[in-house]
Amino acid sequence: MTGTVELLRELHRIHQQLHDLRERLNRGPKQIKAREDVVARLGEAVTSVQTEAKQARVAADQKQLLLKAGEERIKGLRAKLNAAASNREYQALKDQIAADEMANSVLADEALEMMDKIDKAKATVGEAEANLAKGKGELDALKKQVNQQRESLQGDVTRLEGELKTAEASLPPDIRADYLRVVSSKGSDGMAQVEHGSCGGCFQQITANMDSDLRLSRVVFCKSCGRLLYPPEDRSIG
Ligand SMILES: [Zn+2]
Repeated sequence: MTGTVELLRELHRIHQQLHDLRERLNRGPKQIKAREDVVARLGEAVTSVQTEAKQARVAADQKQLLLKAGEERIKGLRAKLNAAASNREYQALKDQIAADEMANSVLADEALEMMDKIDKAKATVGEAEANLAKGKGELDALKKQVNQQRESLQGDVTRLEGELKTAEASLPPDIRADYLRVVSSKGSDGMAQVEHGSCGGCFQQITANMDSDLRLSRVVFCKSCGRLLYPPEDRSIG
């Protein structure tokens, strides 16, 4: 019955490897999803700074229009100044021109500020677009890497599933039923090697009865966690 113990150990090893491979297969899509979220946020950042840049441009254009209208008005007032009929009218026009010039000089300062704002917004947009491009590049690289890994991992899974079938077919029928019951519900956690007189899964100590059953290669379950137990390697040989 030594063969059965070795078979159980082999089956447990296959289940553990399959579990590990499937976890690694699941990890890829999660990594991609996380990276896609990053790219989406970078895209939103681009849209946001583009909107700000556009608003700055519109505001600057409005200032320029106001400035131009002010200049036209001053030009008109100057023309009237030359044709002023009285001293009073002349003085009133002069005052108006002075006030308009003052207003326009404020507008001109503001327009300059707006141009500065536009330059800064352009730089911010460029930065955000570069970040987005970098993020997209990283996403593409990750997808490629995950796809390559998936092929190789999938190949390993297929090979191990074949090994599992072969090994399961070799189990004696009475043990196979118990074995299938635990692994179908718990997978690799359905089995454990006895280590230093305890269940290798939950570390519950095994009883003397269980120990002698194990020596007779009988099916033994951990009373605490229900794992199908098999003896440690050094004992299965003798
Ligand atoms: Zn246990």
